[in-house]
Amino acid sequence: MLKISCFNCQWSWSLNQEATQAALDSLGEGENYYATECPKCRRLNKIPIKQLKRALPRARDKK
Ligand SMILES: [Zn+2]
Repeated sequence: MLKISCFNCQWSWSLNQEATQAALDSLGEGENYYATECPKCRRLNKIPIKQLKRALPRARDKK
C-alpha cells in the first residue's frame, strides 16, 4: 500500500499493491516518477519510482 499526499491540498489517499504495480509498469524508459492526479483538486502529483518500489514487497525490475 502506498500512501500519497497531495502537495497542493494535502489530501491523502492510497494505492493498493495492484495499483502500485500497475503504475510502475506503466512507466516508460527514462521516466523516474509516476504522475497521478489528486482525486480532490486534480493537480498532478509526481511520485518517485523509489517510493513506488518501496511500497511493493518485491518490486519487479523491468530491465
Ligand atoms: Zn489535491
